[in-house]
Amino acid sequence: MITNTTRKFLASFISTVFIIWYDRRYRKFVFIPFVIILIGFLLPQPIIIPVQGATTKDWDDHSFWAYPWGSSITHKGIDIFKERGTPVVAATYGIVVYTHEGGKGGKSVMVLGPKWRFHYYAHLDAIDVFPLEPLKVGAKIGTVGDTGNAKGKPPHLHYAITSPLPYFHLRDTVAVQGWKKMFYLDPDMWLRN
Ligand SMILES: [Zn+2]
Repeated sequence: MITNTTRKFLASFISTVFIIWYDRRYRKFVFIPFVIILIGFLLPQPIIIPVQGATTKDWDDHSFWAYPWGSSITHKGIDIFKERGTPVVAATYGIVVYTHEGGKGGKSVMVLGPKWRFHYYAHLDAIDVFPLEPLKVGAKIGTVGDTGNAKGKPPHLHYAITSPLPYFHLRDTVAVQGWKKMFYLDPDMWLRN
């Protein structure tokens, strides 16, 4: 709903449901997309810090939703600092949705992981995956860099997790853009264990 990726996900889900419903012969199967969504939510989410050798000391736990944050207004992820060229690895298992070069994220990769969460890896120096590639936890995605709007700053991985479906309890009535916290999840919540 918030990012292009989550918007496209919701649009394709809704159109799938309507296409099935539209044809009377298939209408009885309209529950199937909902079952698929449910199964996705039941998948466990083993998760690791997505930069090889990084520890919880390599990002600032106050950087999530830091404000002001340039044209993004708030910082909707965490920045994990490591030397350029350090391997960036998959935080969770999943499927590569797209790889991209350009814009604020520079060289970036989007991965769909368990529970319909989209994992975004940005400012990479190099990308080592291709769209639709399945990934195991820890699979190499690329390397830490400073591409996009990180140019000239210390190399780091910008890591963000988005959900197409809102987590209503995470809505923040105080923070700037606080309602968006229903869709942008704080990776720190899982990486600190
Ligand atoms: Zn960042």
